Amino acid sequence: MKDNNELLAQIEEKFNYCLSCPNPRCEEGCPVHNRIRDFIRSLKQNDLNNAGLVLYSVNPFPEFTCRLCDGKRQCQGKCVRGMGGEPVDIPALERFISDHYSRDIAVKPENGHRVAIIGAGIAGLTAARTLLLEGYAVDVYEKESTLGGAIYTGIPDYRFDKKYLHKVQKELEEMGAKFFFNVEIGKTMTLDNVLAFHERALVAVGASQERLQNLSAEEGYVGGLTLLYDLNILKKKALYKKKFQNVLVWGGGNVALDCARSLKRIIPNVSIIYRRGEEQMPANRDEIDQAKEEGVEFRFLENIISLEKDLNGKVVGARCIKMRLGPLDESGRPSFKEVDNSEFSIDCDLIVSATGQAVDTEILKPGLSRYWKSTNHEANQDRVYFAGDCYLGPKTVVSCIQDGKDAAQEIMASFR
Ligand SMILES: Cc1cc2nc3c(=O)[nH]c(=O)nc-3n(C[C@H](O)[C@H](O)[C@H](O)COP(=O)(O)OP(=O)(O)OC[C@H]3O[C@@H](n4cnc5c(N)ncnc54)[C@H](O)[C@@H]3O)c2cc1C
Ligand code: SF4
Repeated sequence: MKDNNELLAQIEEKFNYCLSCPNPRCEEGCPVHNRIRDFIRSLKQNDLNNAGLVLYSVNPFPEFTCRLCDGKRQCQGKCVRGMGGEPVDIPALERFISDHYSRDIAVKPENGHRVAIIGAGIAGLTAARTLLLEGYAVDVYEKESTLGGAIYTGIPDYRFDKKYLHKVQKELEEMGAKFFFNVEIGKTMTLDNVLAFHERALVAVGASQERLQNLSAEEGYVGGLTLLYDLNILKKKALYKKKFQNVLVWGGGNVALDCARSLKRIIPNVSIIYRRGEEQMPANRDEIDQAKEEGVEFRFLENIISLEKDLNGKVVGARCIKMRLGPLDESGRPSFKEVDNSEFSIDCDLIVSATGQAVDTEILKPGLSRYWKSTNHEANQDRVYFAGDCYLGPKTVVSCIQDGKDAAQEIMASFR
């Protein structure tokens, strides 16, 4: 604790600003109900150890949530301090604890059961950790060369330092996890092979099928996940910089914002086109604000209806239409409708479609589906379970943490 005194002094102001509310509204705003008030109280008592124990007792990976959660719409959005001014800077306090507290990793003795996790994204990692703590042997199969899933392949370095992935890998390995990288189940190895050596398999392969809206071009039309993979993993920044001058990013979620902000760093003109209004954008509030500061243009209540191409099939523009909002739909957001006779064109040479993702688990095994029993994580194949985005649909880091925990609990219950 002594070593941290200087750093504690820097954030003292932040934790002393918390009112230690009897009914902490911040915790209601957190999808995993982090014990925020209690870990802040421990910081106030200069007890980093207890703050760490409290934080990690609910959230196994604050390294991720403190950097990637939409605090302004979740915990901070509910903080009473925010009602009359600025909310408590909860992400900064969580970051401080996770950076400076080293937790004990006390796993129970081996219980003789072996579980395979397919996919080393946040859901798979959370499930792995939950099982390891209870004495299960855990093997993790991952098609990429590194763990992290969408956090590794999609989220750019300026937003999340990948050193935290290595920290998590080291810790899970110390707990007994075995990682098998560059192994794609369904290609390198079958699901049945996996089940021959494991009593249960948890499929946590994410939602990575891009929705390209039935549009295509020879050049200048790309899915958001493909673009981010090109920039983050295949290091193709120079190629994009050389080829494109005017970019239109289509969508309003975190993928769209990551595409726009990454491209803005290499290409002068980058706009986002979104069919609803700013209020309805699902992307993290901070991301939207930062994109604006960085010079990304926003075009709200407009939608792309087709691509404009030259004779070689290269994109030269987008045919668009104005939109208007209507009554709330089943998602709780205002519905949207095209405005009659409002078509127009936008010149651009690259359109990035970040309009959503779908789940495809058939690649693991034809017919494999998560719909067999809708109330739990079981698949339509014996001993197979689902978790994370491939079970919930594309969601968030924190929802996948909760879901990974829930799926692991179901797997453990199946042995009783
Ligand atoms: C660009 C982007 C930005 C985002 N920004 C945020 C954000 O700021 N905040 C937030 O809360 N959420 C954000 N999200 C959403 C969040 O990252 C996801 O909800 C979450 O990471 C999904 O976790 P998962 O473990 O279910 O799947 P994934 O993270 O997708 O992991 C699935 C893993 O399975 C592996 N895999 C797939 N198929 C196979 C196979 N056949 N065999 C072996 N391995 C396989 C994949 O390589 C991958 O590593 C973002 C998502 C993206 C794409
Ligand atoms: S709501 Fe805000 S002030 Fe109250 S306990 Fe939570 S962080 Fe502290």
